[in-house]
Amino acid sequence: MSSSPDTIAREVRRRRTFAIISHPDAGKSTMTEALALHARMISEAGAVHGKAGRKATVSDWMEMEKARGISVSSTALQFNYTPTGLANDDPDPSALPNVINLVDTPGHADFSEDTYRVLTAVDAAVMLIDAAKGLEPQTLKLFQVCRHRGIPVITVVNKWDRPGQTPLELIDEISERIGLTPTPLYVPVGIAGDFRGLYDRRSGKYIKFSRTAGGAKIAPEELLDAETAAATEADAWTAAVEESELLSEMGQDHDQELFLAGETSPMIFTSAMLNFGVRQLLEALVSYAPAPAGRADVDGTVREVTDPFSAVVFKVQAGMDSSHRDRLAYMRIVSGEFERGMVVTHAQTGRPFATKYAQAVFGRDRSTVDTAFPGDVVGLVNATALAPGDTLFDGPRVEFPPIGSFAPEHFATLRARTAGKYKQFRKAMDQLESEGVVQVLRNNTRGDASPVLAAVGPMQFEVVTARMLAEFTVETLLEPLGYSLARRTDENSSAELDRQRGVEVFTRTDGALLALFSDKWRLQYIEKEHPDLTLEPLVAAG
Ligand code: GDP
Repeated sequence: MSSSPDTIAREVRRRRTFAIISHPDAGKSTMTEALALHARMISEAGAVHGKAGRKATVSDWMEMEKARGISVSSTALQFNYTPTGLANDDPDPSALPNVINLVDTPGHADFSEDTYRVLTAVDAAVMLIDAAKGLEPQTLKLFQVCRHRGIPVITVVNKWDRPGQTPLELIDEISERIGLTPTPLYVPVGIAGDFRGLYDRRSGKYIKFSRTAGGAKIAPEELLDAETAAATEADAWTAAVEESELLSEMGQDHDQELFLAGETSPMIFTSAMLNFGVRQLLEALVSYAPAPAGRADVDGTVREVTDPFSAVVFKVQAGMDSSHRDRLAYMRIVSGEFERGMVVTHAQTGRPFATKYAQAVFGRDRSTVDTAFPGDVVGLVNATALAPGDTLFDGPRVEFPPIGSFAPEHFATLRARTAGKYKQFRKAMDQLESEGVVQVLRNNTRGDASPVLAAVGPMQFEVVTARMLAEFTVETLLEPLGYSLARRTDENSSAELDRQRGVEVFTRTDGALLALFSDKWRLQYIEKEHPDLTLEPLVAAG
C-alpha cells in the first residue's frame, strides 16, 4: 500500500538529486567513484578494470555501445550517506541516512541534447573544474543551462594534488566570466600540488588528510585545532587563514538564500584521485543542496511532493536492435510514491502505462526497483510510447511543461539514398524527432526531401542514421553543413537575414525561426551592421 503523506515528506527531506557538470577529463568519473566509495557502495576505488594505469570506473559503462560509437547512455546512481557533520565533529547519532541520487551527464564524444536534458531532472549541480584549467567550454555550456533553469551550483575545484592556479585566481575567473560568486566552505592548506588538508572556515579547524595506497581507500582525516595546525603546517596554514579572512572581507561567506537564488556557489577543493575533500562535498550536498520540491504543471498549478504519483520522463534510450525491445525511459519522480507494478497514465496520450519492469540502472547492473520517492530516477523498459518531457501520473491528471530544445551547434542535411524510400524516410524522421533524438529544421529553398538536422553534439547524427537503417531500413546520406551557431529570430528579420552571406533562416518543427551562422564573427558582423534585427541566443525553449 502507498505510504502516508508524512512518510513521503520524510523520504523527500532526506533526498538530494544532483548532477556533475564538467569538461571531459576534469575528473567526473573519478569523483563519481570516490563518492560511491565514501557511501560504501564499493569497497575500493578502481575496482572495475583497467584504463591507463588507474582502473576504469563504474560509471564508464555500456562499452559495447561506446565501441560502436552510439552510446547515448545516462546513469542514475543512488546511494545512502550518513552525514557526519561538516567538520566531522558533531555527528548526530539519530540521523537517518540521506539518499543521494547522482544523475550522470553523458559527456566526451557522446555529448548531446540528452546531456542537457539530464539537468531538468536534478535539484542541484556540482560544477567540477580542473584546478589548472579552470572553466572550460563544456562546463560553461552546462552551467548556462543550470542558470537558465535556476539550478543552484556547488563548485568543486578538483586535482588540487597537482600544480594549478591559486584559489583566488580561480575565484576571480568564476566571478568574472560567469557572474557566479564562489563562497568557499574550506580553504585548502597547501598550494595546488601540495594538498595537505582543508581549513574549515566555519569552525576555524584544520582537517588534515593522509594518503592511502593508490587513493583506493577513503583518506583518513584528522581534526586539529588552529594552534596545532599552525605548529604543523606553518606558512601553509597562515596563508589559508589569511585567504579566508580576505574572502570574508569581500563578503564571500556562504549564504543559503543567495546560493539557492543562483548568485553564489559554495566552493570545495578536492582530489578525487586521493579521495581528499570528497566527504566534505557529500556534507555540503546534504547541508545545502535543496531537497526535491513540487513542480508547476502546464497551467502553473504546483504538484506538491506529497500529492499522488507523478513523474517526468527526461531521457529515452532506444536499443539499437530493430526489435525495439530494450527501449528504456528514465523518469524523475516529482510527487507521491512509486510502486513497481503500478499502472499509471501517460499524460500525452491518455493511455495506461504498466510499470512491471521498472529498474534502477547503474553501470552494467540493473536491479529491480520496488518503491521510489520524489527525486528518485527510475528506468522503465518497453517504453516505446514515451518521449523526453512526457508526464506519467496516478490519481488526478497532471501534465508538466515540455522540456524544450537546446541551442544546437552542429548542422547537417539528411536525405534518403534512394528516392523510392522517401515515404519511410519521412515517417522515420517524424518518429525520431518526436522522440527528441534530433531537432529538424526546414525552409522552402531546401524542401522537405532533405531537411536539416540540428544537434548539440555530432553523436546525435550517428544515432539518427543508425536508427534509420536498423528500424526503418532507410539508407541515408548525411552532409555536414558549414554552420556552427543558431539564433532565434522573427518574421520581420528573416528576409533581411536571408540576404546575408553565411546565414540561412529555418523553421524548426516547434515553430521557432532559427537563423544559422557560419561562425561567431559572421554573427557579430551582422549584429553590428544591422542592429535592429532580432537575434536572440538560444538556451532552452519552454
Ligand atoms: P572525466 O573525463 O571527467 O570523467 O575524468 P576522469 O575521472 O576519467 O579523469 C581524467 C584523468 O584525470 C584520469 O587520468 C584521472 O586519473 C585523473 N584525475 C581525476 N581526478 C584527479 C585528481 O584529483 N588528481 C589527479 N592528479 N588526477 C585526477
